[in-house]
Order: sequence, then C-alpha cells, then structure tokens
Amino acid sequence: MKENELIKILSDLDIRIWAEGEKLRWNAPNGIVTHEILAHMKEHKSEILALLKAKEIGEETMVEVSISAPQVVKRGLGDLPSVYRPCRISEVYGQDEIKKAIAHGLDTGTLAHVLLFQGVSGTGKTTMARIVAMGLNCEKGTTSEPCCECDFCKAVLNGNSFAFQEFDAAHLPGVNNVRGVTGDLCAAPMGGERKRIVLFDECHRLSDPAQAALLKPTEDVREHVYVILCTTEKEDVLKPLQIRCMQFRFNALSDEEIRTLLLDVCAAEKLDPHPALIENMIAEAKGMARNALFLLQETRCQVFGTKTRRTKED
Ligand SMILES: [Zn+2]
Repeated sequence: MKENELIKILSDLDIRIWAEGEKLRWNAPNGIVTHEILAHMKEHKSEILALLKAKEIGEETMVEVSISAPQVVKRGLGDLPSVYRPCRISEVYGQDEIKKAIAHGLDTGTLAHVLLFQGVSGTGKTTMARIVAMGLNCEKGTTSEPCCECDFCKAVLNGNSFAFQEFDAAHLPGVNNVRGVTGDLCAAPMGGERKRIVLFDECHRLSDPAQAALLKPTEDVREHVYVILCTTEKEDVLKPLQIRCMQFRFNALSDEEIRTLLLDVCAAEKLDPHPALIENMIAEAKGMARNALFLLQETRCQVFGTKTRRTKED
C-alpha cells in the first residue's frame, strides 16, 4: 500500500492523522482502527510524516481529548447508588485524568491490554472496569460511551457476560485457580463479542505464586484479551506484575465533586434538601460517591418513611 493511498483510506474512515514534531498522531472517533491499518501506519511512519508535512497538515486537524461536565443518568429501579451507577465515561464524577486516558484509549482503539486500577475502596475502580468491558464490546463499536442497551452491554450490567469475567481474588487465591482462568482466556468469546476482559478484584490478595502465574499472560497478551487488576493495596502486588500494567490511581472525590453529584441527583429526583443536610452528607461520604448516594437515600427514606436497603457494590 502506498502512503498516499493509506492517508486516503484513513480519511475515508474518518481517522485523522497529524504530525507533531517527529511523532505521528492520530485519532479515530469511531474506534474503527484495525491492527492491519496500525501496522501500515507504523511501517510507513517516516513517509507519512513527510507527506503530512509537505501538505502542511498541521495542528488545526488535531483533536483534543476533552472531558465535559459529568451528568447523572438513571437506569432501572432500586437504591440511588444502583440506579445512578455510571455506565459511560461521561457519567463518572471525578477522576478526570483517568477518564481522559481511558476515553482516549477506547475511542482510538489504543487502550492498553493490562490495566491496574489502584485506590481506596468506593472510588469507582470496578465501575470503570465495567465501563471498559462495555466499551470494548458494545455493538456501537469500541467506544467510551457504550449504548448500555445492546445484548453485550446488558450482559455486563447484569453480571452474566461470557466476555467479561470478574474474579474476587479473596476467593481465588491459588496458583492453579489463576492458571485455569488465564489458560481459558486463549479462546475467543463465546457470545460473539470482540474482546474478552478479565477482572481480578482485590488482586493483592492473590498469593505470590498466583500473582507470578499472571506474569506470562500479562506480558504476552492475546490480541482479544484485556486484563484489569484492581487493588486497594498496591504495595502488596508483585513489582514485576505492576510494571506490566498501565496504572491508574483512583482518588477520593473532592467535596466539590461530591456536592455536584448530590445536587445533580437531587435535581433528577426532584428533591430539595436543606443545604446543611447536603454539607453533612459531603462530610460523611469521605470522598466516595457510593457513600454519598447511600446517605442521600437514607435521608430521603427518613423524610418519606420508606425502607432503605444497603447493597454491597463498588
Ligand atoms: Zn452496547
């Protein structure tokens, strides 16, 4: 394939490329970059750069990854933390840098295959892992804004996806368990999905031999496989395993972020609590969105006298 033919194909696919110094940058809003195209881009990088420079295609074609203000979306019935659980990057409050990186990775088809989400519990690590799983397999194509309605998205949301498997490491500590999981990953997804995603929650609780069993499969990751490790105790994860991962640190949300979330949910639920109540919830939530919504739920139940029920979810 000639370089100008490749540029034509890229532009037909709505993939924008531009030169940034000696680097070739690209952005595909629809996430339709195949590995064949990537290989061609890599092979002909210097020629493409020369062509781009000759045509004076410059920074004006560059697409900035910007994250707009998050918004709450209600799905289904139940507790506030469940019905307002984010299913798209645009619904996540806080974690701006993580959102930018993951959205860019999903929207350009360049997401790293091995991810490590670390941070205190309740900061949205598992939620983000589910968004990644939906984003990789959604019928819309690889995207940071999955439809949340197709069969693939629904299966992730309902916890019965063949392509997305969540393992709580506390119940999967042995090396043979881990080998069983990773060995099984070689097979393509059974339900017609494009990718298989495996999540090891609380991965620091895997024994050292079990963590060591992850080294090979995370070094030599199959094209269709993504591994997400979540941990609250990164220091207990083997160093060689850590360095194989693209790492993201999830922080507690700021008071302002929690306030925005609470006020947005109040607006959606047509609630108008006293500002002092909101401030108390912010103080008690300790930067965790889930806690804040539980507190709002409890406050609402006290006002209206309906029962509240806590569910255990991250
Ligand atoms: Zn979908």
